[in-house]
Amino acid sequence: MSSAANQARKDAIRDNVLRPSRNVPYPSKDGKPIYTSEFFGESVFGLAQIAKALPKPAYAQFLRKMRGGQALDKSTADAIAHAVRIWAMDKGATHFTHWFQPQTGTTAEKHDAFLTLKTTHGQAGLEEVKAIDAFSGTQLLQAEPDASSFPSGGMRTTFEARGYTVWDTTSPMFVQHGPHKTTVLYIPSIFISYNGDALDEKTVLLRSTEQVAKAALAVLALLEPVPQGVPPQTSIVYTTLGTEQEYFLVDRALYVLRPDLKITGRTLVGALPAKHQQMEDHYFGHIPSRVLATMSEAELELYKLGVPIKTRHNEVAPQQFELAPIFEETSLAVDHNLLTMDVLSKIAHRNNLKVLFHEKPFKGVNGSGKHCNWSLSTGSGENLLDPSIKPETNYRFLLFLLATLDAVQRHGGLLRAGIASASNEHRLGANEAPPAIISVFLGEHLSEVLDSIEQSRPVKNFSVPDIRTIKLGGTALDVMVSTLPDISRDLTDRNRTSPFAFTGNKFEFRAVGSKQSPSFPMTLLNAAVASSLQDIAEELRKAAGDKAFPSDADKLKVIRQYIASTKSVRFEGDNYSDEWKKEAAKRGLLNITNCPDAFDQIVEEKNSAMLCKLGIFSKSELSSRHYILMERYSKDLLLEANTLRTLLAQQILPAAFEYRAALASSCAQQQAIKLSAGPELKTLNQTTPLVERLQEWIDKLDDAINQVHLAAHDPSAEARASARHLLPAMEGAREVADELEEIIADKYFPLPKMSELLWF
Ligand code: ADP
Ligand code: MG
Repeated sequence: MSSAANQARKDAIRDNVLRPSRNVPYPSKDGKPIYTSEFFGESVFGLAQIAKALPKPAYAQFLRKMRGGQALDKSTADAIAHAVRIWAMDKGATHFTHWFQPQTGTTAEKHDAFLTLKTTHGQAGLEEVKAIDAFSGTQLLQAEPDASSFPSGGMRTTFEARGYTVWDTTSPMFVQHGPHKTTVLYIPSIFISYNGDALDEKTVLLRSTEQVAKAALAVLALLEPVPQGVPPQTSIVYTTLGTEQEYFLVDRALYVLRPDLKITGRTLVGALPAKHQQMEDHYFGHIPSRVLATMSEAELELYKLGVPIKTRHNEVAPQQFELAPIFEETSLAVDHNLLTMDVLSKIAHRNNLKVLFHEKPFKGVNGSGKHCNWSLSTGSGENLLDPSIKPETNYRFLLFLLATLDAVQRHGGLLRAGIASASNEHRLGANEAPPAIISVFLGEHLSEVLDSIEQSRPVKNFSVPDIRTIKLGGTALDVMVSTLPDISRDLTDRNRTSPFAFTGNKFEFRAVGSKQSPSFPMTLLNAAVASSLQDIAEELRKAAGDKAFPSDADKLKVIRQYIASTKSVRFEGDNYSDEWKKEAAKRGLLNITNCPDAFDQIVEEKNSAMLCKLGIFSKSELSSRHYILMERYSKDLLLEANTLRTLLAQQILPAAFEYRAALASSCAQQQAIKLSAGPELKTLNQTTPLVERLQEWIDKLDDAINQVHLAAHDPSAEARASARHLLPAMEGAREVADELEEIIADKYFPLPKMSELLWF
């Protein structure tokens, strides 16, 4: 007889197989499909709607204030509030919410009804109470949620627990439909304390965007003086972001039988099945129909929300998938990535699936990342990291490229901190994801271009499978003098091992975790690049001397200087190799192998000076973030250790006992009729030491948990104790549990196995 727990597992497996996929029709009219472009953004209240709601001069002023980050006046806010309420109510909205990004990695919302009671004093002092729907400019602009339950890193004492959410005018409002057609108006917002300190991820991202834009414009002003009367959009620069989001999907019936997945987002035990990803048959394979049903339903919702999802495909591991949008301005792209994760979870649920965004849900198969494709663009949509057809603008290209190299070289430790988390640590350094050493891959051709410029020699002629080669003026001789060589746009990406790779016309920060908000890593990257661009502007001015603008020779001088100084951060080889670790150490690059050390980079002198000088963080904001990250890290690990302990003691050990009892009684039966119990005894003798070792590991886990509690007075000490004690204890316990899983008869095993979770 199999146990009740085992029966539940078998039932779940059967349910999974029998489930039909949901059928959600795409929008149509008179039996004909409506094109995606026609309903794209229909749930968004964007600039077009705001323009309609305001008189022309008021709209022009709104745009100016939006771009300048200034507060709106009351009458403009009232007009927008009125228009957006009517628009949202016509779509069924009853509530509104300021939607913000506290430092929890997710979003937060609190709904308020438009419903208001209005009391009028009629004749003879009689009060009349009337229900009305209302939404004022003040309500649109600002709300005051109780901030005391969000992480603040000790920055806010309880007596000043007030926090404010303020509408971020750069990100459009939208409506989302929930169960029973409940509809809510979402107002993207920042979250700050009474004193104006950033309590969220977005405020600092917006500050960093502003700084990088300013610094980029300063460099551009030296390279390409803007003639009088040029329209203002050419004097804007912003960063762009396209997030490739990886995730796993598992059946919900199986998922609910795995307390580790439910509580921590990853499997804490589980033996690797015979077939996993070694056949390399999943990547770009046929998408299973239930998955495709989920993907397309999610995309349908996202299109209405104005999220431009472009690609979808199978990833390397079984049941691992990826989706990527068309890139957008960074802060909007972050909002859209968070929305994508929300919508995907919601739709997966409707399809009886659970989406796993954890960076390493299963040991032994690939984990998930969120490649952050990043570049800089001008207001007229010119990509500043695109090698161009005009030779003059390639000075610009090279200077922006070198600014990024310089930023990574100087602040690689900070970028490492931006991607550090208990969950992402499982990915980094494993042979599937970027390692902990932050270096930059440029590709063979671009590397050669930089080397040739530095050495004042012509570019070596070698064949690259270029998609385009951009012809520039200048002969080999000219290179010696002052012009630039041909720069071809090499869109091939031949080094998947690099954490930070140049891919043709953008950088791809690959070390970012699938679960995390891209906000923090992008803030740090923007900041570091802003700082390097400021330095480059200064160097250009110095090189120009008395002249108003640097000459081509001056620009080349600065370019050479930066090529030389950023050399050590460039690496074209195999980032997984041991030689690279040695070589990186020689070059003085950091190799930070644990989270607490990574978090310390945030308050490290050079990094914190840069962030504070740019005004992106204050000293106290930095120490609060450092505190919160340390605290979250210990909390994550403690949660895992406690969950694992319970799982071992309450599920795996009892299953082992049950199996031993069955074997023992079988032995007794054989011996009773004078048969050899040898075979049963052999297996019994194999389980005995494993069960004993598992019990010892449970004790060791308890000890480790106690060690962490002893350090609880200080978040840094607690985080370090967690890394030191919990990680090895969990790893050790898991090894024994996985060995047991392979011995215990399947019918006694209560947990859905990896082979069942990863196949439909
Ligand atoms: P790959 O898997 O080869 O990296 P994908 O097409 O899956 O390519 O993803 C590339 C991502 O990079 C997309 O989200 C795309 O919009 C984005 N991207 C392209 N150009 C830029 C750019 N200039 N700035 C930011 N992101 C970009
Ligand atoms: Mg990519």
